[in-house]
Amino acid sequence: MKTYDDALERCYAGLEEKIKECALSVDIGRVRAAFETAVDSHSGQLRRDGSPYVTHTVAAAEIAVEMGLDEDSIVSALLHDTLEDTSLQYDDIARQFGPSVAAIVDGVTKLTRINFTSREEAQMENMRKMLMAMSEDIRVILIKLADRLHNMRTMDFQTPEKQRLKSLETMQIYAPIAHRLGMQRIKWELEDLSLMYLDPIGYKSILDMLDRRRDDLEKFMDSMEKKISSRLSDWGIECTISRRLKHLYSIYRKMYTQKLDLSEIFDLCALRVTVESLSDCYNVLGQIHDMFKPVPGRFKDYISTPKPNGYQSLHTTVIGSEGIPFEVQIRTWEMHRTAEYGVAAHWKYKSGSAGVRDGDEEKFAWVRRLLELQQTSDATDFLSGLKVDMFADEVFVFSPKGDVISLPAGATPIDFAYSIHSAVGNSMVGAKVNGRIVPIDYAMRNGDIVEILTSKAASGPSRDWLKIARSGSARSKIKQWFKKERREENIVQGREMLDAELKRCGISMAEVSEYDLMPIILRRLSLSSVDDVYAAIGYGGITATKTANRLRDELQKAHKQSSARTPLDKLNEAAERRVEQKRAQKPRAVQGVLVAGLDNCLIKFARCCTPVPGDEIVGFITRGYGVSVHRTDCANHINGRLDPDGGGRWIDVSWANETNESYTTTLKICSKERNGLVMDIATALTSINAKVHSLLARDVGGGCAQTTVTLEVKNLFDLQLIINRIQAISGVTEVSRSGN
Ligand code: MN
Repeated sequence: MKTYDDALERCYAGLEEKIKECALSVDIGRVRAAFETAVDSHSGQLRRDGSPYVTHTVAAAEIAVEMGLDEDSIVSALLHDTLEDTSLQYDDIARQFGPSVAAIVDGVTKLTRINFTSREEAQMENMRKMLMAMSEDIRVILIKLADRLHNMRTMDFQTPEKQRLKSLETMQIYAPIAHRLGMQRIKWELEDLSLMYLDPIGYKSILDMLDRRRDDLEKFMDSMEKKISSRLSDWGIECTISRRLKHLYSIYRKMYTQKLDLSEIFDLCALRVTVESLSDCYNVLGQIHDMFKPVPGRFKDYISTPKPNGYQSLHTTVIGSEGIPFEVQIRTWEMHRTAEYGVAAHWKYKSGSAGVRDGDEEKFAWVRRLLELQQTSDATDFLSGLKVDMFADEVFVFSPKGDVISLPAGATPIDFAYSIHSAVGNSMVGAKVNGRIVPIDYAMRNGDIVEILTSKAASGPSRDWLKIARSGSARSKIKQWFKKERREENIVQGREMLDAELKRCGISMAEVSEYDLMPIILRRLSLSSVDDVYAAIGYGGITATKTANRLRDELQKAHKQSSARTPLDKLNEAAERRVEQKRAQKPRAVQGVLVAGLDNCLIKFARCCTPVPGDEIVGFITRGYGVSVHRTDCANHINGRLDPDGGGRWIDVSWANETNESYTTTLKICSKERNGLVMDIATALTSINAKVHSLLARDVGGGCAQTTVTLEVKNLFDLQLIINRIQAISGVTEVSRSGN
């Protein structure tokens, strides 16, 4: 054993102590060896605060210990930056610490190399998925989280730009992953640290507000805790009560997204009652609801329905003394560990304190158990985020600009090119992956950076590409190309084929044109020209036999009609045609609305009053957006008429006689607050097949609730039916339309 200077030895001693403290059964000799390897290979490297670099990897290892990870994980955490930053090689690690450690360190290194920095939110889910998919061993992602947590804790010395970028990445990528893995503690800390750098002013203001209220809150919680604990001990329920202040970022989010004041946040402070058994959870709940008045709608049973990430607890909010509401969470110790450490808790506590030893059998036993546990609940979200097998059918690669593209597993550069645009695929002449030219059938791997080489002189896809491409969309785009490029050829061939087939049926082309049968066939096939029909036959999209049979049927029909027609029929037909022509001359309705003196202008329906056919309406000529249609009783119309600037821009509009359109409109429902009301409204709407776009209920105080429903109707009659139906629901006091 080597000895290093005091500071380093002290740092290492901290790690050993933590291992003892957490009662992990770990071969200390191996941990020490990893420490020495890390110190030697990082020797001379300093962190920005001037401390030796290895203090960072020791700290990451300590976090891994706190998570309850196994020996290989602790060793890997100590070595996690050696492949990236030192001359140590994969083989060196494998030789000294085994293949499993080498694979984990290699995995962490790959994640570190990816630049996740901010892109639009749509990309983020793919980013998170890719990161999970690349972590072929779940320990990779857990160590990456430990690494990131320590880096976030020590960002003071970084430049403001780097602080902001890393915080954004943490908020968008790592905190959601920690959440998905059920690791609340890590998630909270990551979010709070990120917030501190992303919005220092917002962060500080919440911190100050909390500080100002802290004494009062503590006093209040003390007295609530005392009450509960004496009651529970009277009833002989053994429990531990602890409390927590809501973490800063979730207060921040509530205040900003729901525009709440700090005083309006119910669960600022929560008491947690931890008990031994499941039945005690419900006993405690009963006692608490007996002592305090519960706030309606705030009770949640995550025990019978766990959250997708495995979280279980009972939550309730009750009114304490002086009318102050507070939240109580009730759970067993086992649920508590899962809540704090997520998947890692299963590692530690389900596999015994010895941790997981090598051997494939045991390695992922806990994952399997966890999955079994999850299968009883709605776990799709969790499963889809958990592990690599979940993504076995997907591969995630980067475009040169850094966008993540998800493709089917085994996808080739051809799939990639067509996923960007068919023009890119059609002009592709080659591809580079990670800067090197690859064959066109190269199977892409997670994290590859793919660049497509194109040329204007490219001759288009080859037939072989159909065999190489793995995605249906690439194949259909290639087929499309052949269809289009060979059009002339196809038309000639198709015409010959149809002619031959018609001859076989005893029909001549002359007859087909005499009875004008082609338009009928075109309509049937949704094609626009006769050439299209030939091309489709030539390409094989439709068969000549079928087309000829159709023509024969139509011809027979036409024969029958012409022999049965009397002169009177012919007169009627002429009259019908005239009516038809006249109708065609009338101004055309747009979206069911006719505008006086204007044909075919842009129509939009005012959002303030959402008119539907049957309402009296009026139009307003907007600047640049056509005519906006209001109800005549809309407040905006009534007030707008008086406006000297806008008064002249109102114009007569009317509903067309027949419309087949649906119109979106909004209803406001006032009601008494009661349990199940929203459910009743939803049920009523479903029972009459209303097309509901959104339904939003909120408490407006005074025991009243307001529900806003946006739905689609054909006309006022439909709408009135819906209104009547809602009015019949008990507790509903008023149903009105928006706009007045
Ligand atoms: Mn690191």
